Amino acid sequence: MIEFVTFVLEVNSALDLPDKIRPDHSFMEEVLKEPEGEKLRYCFNCGTCTASCVVSWHTENYRPRMILHLVSLGAREAILKSKEIWLCATCNTCGERCPQGVNIAEAMNVLRRLAIKYNYVPSSIRSLASSILKLGRIYEVDDFVEEERQDLGLPTLASTDKKFMGKLTKKVALKLPNLLTSD
Ligand code: SF4
Ligand code: SF4
Repeated sequence: MIEFVTFVLEVNSALDLPDKIRPDHSFMEEVLKEPEGEKLRYCFNCGTCTASCVVSWHTENYRPRMILHLVSLGAREAILKSKEIWLCATCNTCGERCPQGVNIAEAMNVLRRLAIKYNYVPSSIRSLASSILKLGRIYEVDDFVEEERQDLGLPTLASTDKKFMGKLTKKVALKLPNLLTSD
């Protein structure tokens, strides 16, 4: 999260703004209108989500409580441009423990959908999405991988259903066009 705050300050500095986040109060309203987004209004910032988060244990750059708080403050640009919203592993450990019943994993999905909508997708995420739509996996399974699997006694992986992936690509291009456009 230190990196994230630094990022916010750098953006503000580049825009010649004071060292504060410029609030956009319509942002919270937009998030609340999304499916599962409305539960965010019940968050009282207790921090249980951050304390429970498996990703937060490994990087100080990811703090779900801080992200949700910045959403409530209206930090639209800083949140949607951040890499941190893509770090959530959707494990739902935090959601199981949230005393207010907030579905934090789904809230991160809301933020990701909005980041796609406003074309703030990091190139690494575009690249992953493109590999999945092209190969059905995040990387190509070549002969070397198959041999390794055989040595480990694992079955051969099924080949990608190209017809299905073609249909899926069309749907993604229709619903999330910014996910597939290059930078
Ligand atoms: S655990 Fe729930 S109420 Fe507490 S900060 Fe996280 S989302 Fe908010
Ligand atoms: S769902 Fe996301 S935010 Fe919640 S504990 Fe898992 S990785 Fe952390």
